[in-house]
Amino acid sequence: MTARPETPPAHGSADLRPDTVLVAGGRPAPEHDAPVGPSIVLTSTYRGSAGLDAEDRTYGRFSNPTWEDLEDVLARLERAELPALAYASGLAAVASVLSLVPAGGRLVLPRHSYQGSLALAADLEARGLLTVRTVDVTDTEDVVAALDAADLLWLESPTNPMLEVADLPALLAAARERGVLTCVDNTFATPLLQRPLEHGADIVVHSVTKYLAGHSDVVLGAAVTSDPALRTRLKGHRSLHGAVPGPFEAWLALRGMRTLAVRVERSAATAGELARRLQQHPAVREVRYPGLPGDPGHERAAAQMDGFGSIVAIVPAGDVAAVEAAVDALRVWTPATSLGGVESLIERRRRHHEEPPSVPETLLRLSVGIENVEDLWEDLDRVLCGIDR
Ligand SMILES: *Cc1c(COP(=O)(O)O)cnc(C)c1O
Repeated sequence: MTARPETPPAHGSADLRPDTVLVAGGRPAPEHDAPVGPSIVLTSTYRGSAGLDAEDRTYGRFSNPTWEDLEDVLARLERAELPALAYASGLAAVASVLSLVPAGGRLVLPRHSYQGSLALAADLEARGLLTVRTVDVTDTEDVVAALDAADLLWLESPTNPMLEVADLPALLAAARERGVLTCVDNTFATPLLQRPLEHGADIVVHSVTKYLAGHSDVVLGAAVTSDPALRTRLKGHRSLHGAVPGPFEAWLALRGMRTLAVRVERSAATAGELARRLQQHPAVREVRYPGLPGDPGHERAAAQMDGFGSIVAIVPAGDVAAVEAAVDALRVWTPATSLGGVESLIERRRRHHEEPPSVPETLLRLSVGIENVEDLWEDLDRVLCGIDR
């Protein structure tokens, strides 16, 4: 194997723009006869000599060159000064960050956080390991008030599935003043549209499964920080709890990321167009999309994001049965959970019993893919017109 083109911590050198980093990063050094793309290094252990240095490769649960290709690119996208950490799943990364809360400490998180994050927090609370305070993340004053006894402020923006937008700069600054650790789940926005570390977050996590990998064929996660002590703790947790990705998944994720910029650009443009049309649709009671000028989160999103993403939530007219029948009648959209892939997915979120009751029963989450906008629209329009209002 050829040497890596740059060794950490060169990630901060913002010489190349993000869409170029996505294509050019994580490749072998440009030597004659070198392969253009990175290799998948399949090994559980590494040759070593008698004495060990901390940086040596020793065992496949501690380090892998294929993870590092991905970790390098992710760090550069999030403008972190240290390599990211890849995990077996997004939720493994979430669990690693929640492990930073001291025993008996307090976690503050949005009531509409990703359902798995809420479930994990509830599990830790039920076992007496920490206490949880859920907040309406749009209510900055209320979140700040909750910080007084907090150890970790968890943020998600836009939230899943309500698309609420948090005032990231204000909340992260308030947490910093009070010495409260912060983590932002940046899965929905992707680092192309939002870079929470620049707004003062200590840690960013991703479900790489979603937009980053982008093809609904990988489960993978990541955590990113510029704080060496935090990174050491997270990495220690990853190794000790065995939350490590397979090299093939890491390779697939980076392969998917090569096209992230064009996928995000295309799907966000389509999401904006669909949101505008859905707003006019007689069978749609409510559309939530931060890109709509009338959306409650629009101004915040415009101020802190470089785009509005490609998740749209709608509340159609009709009852649960009518809405489910409409979803079943779709031909282009796939009824499935998850999001961020090239294919458009749609889901009534409350079909999951764990989803909080504050999410409307008939709310549909639309993950807009990269198909032709007119095919997506005609499919939606046809089934919505069939709903008895
Ligand atoms: C899917 C998701 C997760 C969990 O990631 P997995 O890769 O499924 O473990 C966490 N946060 C958000 C916002 C998600 O959408």
